Amino acid sequence: MNSFAYNGTWARCEGASGTCFGVQIRRSLCLVHMEEDERREHLAQEAIPGVPVSYAGTRFSSALFQQVLSAYGHHFGDVSFEGAVFYEPADFTGVAFEGRPSFAYCSFLEHANFSGVDFGPTRDFGPIYCRTSISLRDAIFQAPVLMQIASSHLNCVGVRWESTAVLKFRGEIVDMERSVMQQPVAVSAASMPFFAGRAPRGSLRVDSEPLVPRLLSISGVDASQLTITDFDLSECVFTGAFNLDQISLGGENDFGDSPSGVHWKGIIPRRFSSRRVIAEEHYWRSDRAESRGIRSPWKSNPTDVLVVNHGPRHVGANYRQLRKAMEESKNEPDAADFYYGEMEMRRCDPGRPKAERALVALYWAVSGYGLRATRALVALVMAMMVTCFLLVGFGIPMEDPLQEVRSDGAARMVIETPDAELTNAIRDRFSFERSEKAIKVTLDSVVFRSGGQNLTQFGSYVEMISRVVGPLLLALCLLALRSRIKRG
Ligand SMILES: [Zn+2]
Repeated sequence: MNSFAYNGTWARCEGASGTCFGVQIRRSLCLVHMEEDERREHLAQEAIPGVPVSYAGTRFSSALFQQVLSAYGHHFGDVSFEGAVFYEPADFTGVAFEGRPSFAYCSFLEHANFSGVDFGPTRDFGPIYCRTSISLRDAIFQAPVLMQIASSHLNCVGVRWESTAVLKFRGEIVDMERSVMQQPVAVSAASMPFFAGRAPRGSLRVDSEPLVPRLLSISGVDASQLTITDFDLSECVFTGAFNLDQISLGGENDFGDSPSGVHWKGIIPRRFSSRRVIAEEHYWRSDRAESRGIRSPWKSNPTDVLVVNHGPRHVGANYRQLRKAMEESKNEPDAADFYYGEMEMRRCDPGRPKAERALVALYWAVSGYGLRATRALVALVMAMMVTCFLLVGFGIPMEDPLQEVRSDGAARMVIETPDAELTNAIRDRFSFERSEKAIKVTLDSVVFRSGGQNLTQFGSYVEMISRVVGPLLLALCLLALRSRIKRG
């Protein structure tokens, strides 16, 4: 029974030994408990399209509801389904609400189908509880509306909101693909159960459990009108959304994470550091690995939803727009991760010029796009080690050349420094003293200074290159550290 939804505002049916909560219609009985003849008579005489009526607290079977619908010719004025229970599938398709219907605390124990329904001036839709799924596919809301829905699955594909809307949802899945928003629409996960304090006996799992609902798609939606709060966006399809850079993300929306830890690519171990990614990158990488016959830690597309055009260029464009949105809302950590994703897509896009990709790949390898401090530090240390090795082996002369003073016969003194040379056997060159000199030259070169050390010609070239590469890597290192500190 639906005692939880009864708030004493309507006269209760006296049938069923006082256990019925349906509103009285005739002879103190509700639509369910009156005789069949009386019901027909009531529907024939009193059911006039557009005339206010209440079916509060009434328990509808599919057949009874269809009887009511045909009596009203699918046109309702002010109609109340407050606290009503639809214990079989409820089919509202083709209905137009011309007044303001009430669905407060209405519950659907099976699928509720509002596909294509014209909600007209409806301003409140709910709180509604549905045990399975509600479809609002292609429904139309003309007035500003507050929707409160607890349901496992909510289908808002193609819904048209002609005015502002606030959708508070408790449940598992919402799909908003192609929905039309002419004015701002706020979609949020409701933190409190709608039916709190009025909880019925029996199961209201969807309403009572703390679930983080998943948004499946905003493809085809004008995201500049959309605010999403506290949703799980790890499976959301963004491709095809308009003005994605103007989307407003409030509260704590979860994006998915990239695979982390060590994964093997053939025989090469690769360490992934976790970052926020969108589902489309998962699907694209997983598809790519599959086509190459490689096992991949990336998630494959779990649904049959066709993700159109999810190549690196499109995924990269989504990242770029989401990064802008994050920067706008001062969300530095996610902005940084989306920048990383954007650059990854540039690196992997076969449609871009080879030179650009090579440069991006280098940027990735030495510093993780200026975002991975450890990688930048490792690159710097490795570059310094190579420099040191080359200097000790080939760059530092065995002895500093002696300056020679000679007279050129015209009463002038000429001081000459012959070229530094290194002629010793290789194994004699790696000494402590020489290493010390090499380290000094290397360290000086990283901070752009010349060490003043005599070098062979080869050594001078090494120092020259080191003076360019060293400071660059140091700068990347500092950049990565700065961004890490900024991300806190
Ligand atoms: Zn009754």
